Amino acid sequence: MRENNLLPIAGDQPQIYEDPLDLMDEIDRLKEKKDATILAHYYVDGEIQDIADYSGDSLQLARDAANVTTSTIVFAGVHFMAETAKMLNPDKTVLLPDLEAGCSLSESCPADRLAAYQKELREQGRDFVTVAYINTSAAVKSLCDWIVTSGNAREVVEERVPKDKEILFVPDQHLGRYLVEVTGREMILWPGACMVHEVFSLQDLLRAKRKNPESIVVSHPECPQNILEVSDYVGGTESMRKYVASISEPKTILVATEANMIHPLEAAAPQHEFVPVPGIMTETGETCACNRCPHMARNTLQKVRDCLKYGRPEILWQPYFDKAKEVVVRSLLQ
Ligand code: SF4
Repeated sequence: MRENNLLPIAGDQPQIYEDPLDLMDEIDRLKEKKDATILAHYYVDGEIQDIADYSGDSLQLARDAANVTTSTIVFAGVHFMAETAKMLNPDKTVLLPDLEAGCSLSESCPADRLAAYQKELREQGRDFVTVAYINTSAAVKSLCDWIVTSGNAREVVEERVPKDKEILFVPDQHLGRYLVEVTGREMILWPGACMVHEVFSLQDLLRAKRKNPESIVVSHPECPQNILEVSDYVGGTESMRKYVASISEPKTILVATEANMIHPLEAAAPQHEFVPVPGIMTETGETCACNRCPHMARNTLQKVRDCLKYGRPEILWQPYFDKAKEVVVRSLLQ
């Protein structure tokens, strides 16, 4: 159980249908009344992105969170993101619409296992720094030297990690492998992966590409190597957005990342047709809906409304947030 999982989960019971437009109006009123700012990740439903004050990738949202002036932040995203918002705003109330919104990647690297592995490496006399992808818990961040996002990982590895040190990269093995390739640095890779990015079907992607040879494949570096190898562009969500906006001629763009990312891509570049790359086939021969993140999907308009209304679930300050904050600020905000 998470340390701050003691509060009731707003809206975990089955919810009755409510008109989305009414909910949006109610959220606007509550936001005003409760002096709140809503941050939404690109992977949550488009309607939540539409009512948010800021939407973006993890890096952009961490930066936005540092500049919020209201007394309350609602973070429509997953747990580690709301933790980052809290550590950057110790005196503000930070709410997460559903405390169970976790992340398979973050959970693949628990703090106690990382600490034990670091100890083992030190005992072997290895001289290393630990670089963590932002998709990690605050407890893990507090054990690391650098935090990176898909947007700044290459820059941090190339320019900030001393050349004479080994790198332990956690938790995403696919992003780590991609970084080894683009930076030429050797890394010890933690064997974690994102459940969403791991399931894209290479076969379906190649079939879609064969049907439309003029199409462009864009993929997130969390995808496995076989998907990256057939991609025309590899980048984090923000750089993906800028890339598609830079192509003026209308194209079909096959997108290998969480399917809700289509929403900000369409807004940034309406001239294109965006097609989500499907996930693998299920045993019954249907394509699974696993290109949707089930954790991000726990965010709904109703839960955003409920957490504003009741002021919970709240992310509470933890003792290791101080150390984690120091690493986050040094890595992402300076
Ligand atoms: S898409 Fe993957 S990495 Fe992102 S929150 Fe979901 S499980 Fe975590």
